[in-house]
Amino acid sequence: MNQRELFFRHLAQTSASPLALEIVRAEAMHLYDGNGKSYLDLIGGISVCNTGHRHPRVVEAIRKQTDQYLHILVYGEMLQSPQIQYASLITTHLPESLQSVYFTNSGAEATEGAMKLAKRATGRTQIVAFHHSYHGSTQGALSVMGDEYWRNAFRPLLPGVVHLDYNAFDQLDQLNAHTACVIVETVQAENGVIKPAFATTYAKASAVEAVNRQPTTVNEKNFLHALRKKCDECGALLILDEIQTGFGRTGTLWGFEQYDVVPDILLLGKALGGGLPLGAFIAKKELMDTLMDRPVLGHITTFGGHPLSCAAGLASMNVLLDEGLVETVQEKEKIFLQQLVHPAIRSVRSAGLLIAVEFESFEKNKQVIDFCIAHGLLTDWFLFASNCLRIAPPLTISDEEIRWACGVILKAVDSLG
Ligand code: PMP
Repeated sequence: MNQRELFFRHLAQTSASPLALEIVRAEAMHLYDGNGKSYLDLIGGISVCNTGHRHPRVVEAIRKQTDQYLHILVYGEMLQSPQIQYASLITTHLPESLQSVYFTNSGAEATEGAMKLAKRATGRTQIVAFHHSYHGSTQGALSVMGDEYWRNAFRPLLPGVVHLDYNAFDQLDQLNAHTACVIVETVQAENGVIKPAFATTYAKASAVEAVNRQPTTVNEKNFLHALRKKCDECGALLILDEIQTGFGRTGTLWGFEQYDVVPDILLLGKALGGGLPLGAFIAKKELMDTLMDRPVLGHITTFGGHPLSCAAGLASMNVLLDEGLVETVQEKEKIFLQQLVHPAIRSVRSAGLLIAVEFESFEKNKQVIDFCIAHGLLTDWFLFASNCLRIAPPLTISDEEIRWACGVILKAVDSLG
């Protein structure tokens, strides 16, 4: 049996039509199949490979760590230098109130840990989340996912979850004295890149009014800011999910910097591990300390913060900072926006190098994606916006590569029947 047959026989599938490309090597911006065909990677493993595939400094850091130790022991018994150094570097680049890092294996586990922390710290049970949001696929994270189609088959899920419309300022009065936390993506990624809206009067703006409005005066505030204010009034914690928007993706190191808010708990994942599995929830120390008591070991994990993942993540974040990659994002975003103009493209929504190109239907989008892949450009769609083509390349993409990629997309669009 060949690899493809073995793949279908022995690997569990959750989609009836997986792409099933056989990739044998990845380097910088490209993936290569067994026949030597190369693919320019426009999705970076879904917002993971922000410093490109196998950056030499990341590979070297992993090699070095394998010479020292792999798994040893968790629960605080041992000082693991990769964890300590990485947590120190991350927190140097975060506000004063976000200084304590709990490393997990994945984004979903970061979501789980953060929700537990919020319940433990506030003694409350209600969790507010948003329609069309994605925070992971485990049962707690699924409970706050904003789509009934994906939730329904797995009920019962967590009780006490309330879903509001993202950007609906007029629904924030649903937060109350029972609300433990609000969990929200800084920019809704899987909804096809929906950014926080601005409104002049919080209380009156509905979601539709707000998204159509751009800030016009300095007094205007955005949805996340309104949410922060409401959380403070109610004593609820604000959890910002930056699993997809962190590490420069939106043009600043953290997406929340653009919205004048600081969360109580920050979720990181994806690019955090520099290509290895790693997640984290981050809060102030006094808040995190509530997981030490009643019960002791309030959150535990065997592998969370694995030394290899932390060594890789640390090296990758240093590359991001040393190479000034974050500062290049806005210019690169502009080139995409300038190029991607075509009557069949309905809209292009962007938050830095997180871009959704909207077509009339999933079918048209799929035709474009298939054409792109056949022509050596790897792209995808979004979970809750299947008519939108996903662009989330490594931040190392060059201007020439962006122009080439846009050329392929436009040719694909031209070929639409
Ligand atoms: N939050 C967001 C915003 C995500 O995009 C994802 C993954 N797509 C997750 C959480 C879950 O991360 P993981 O797949 O590592 O569990």
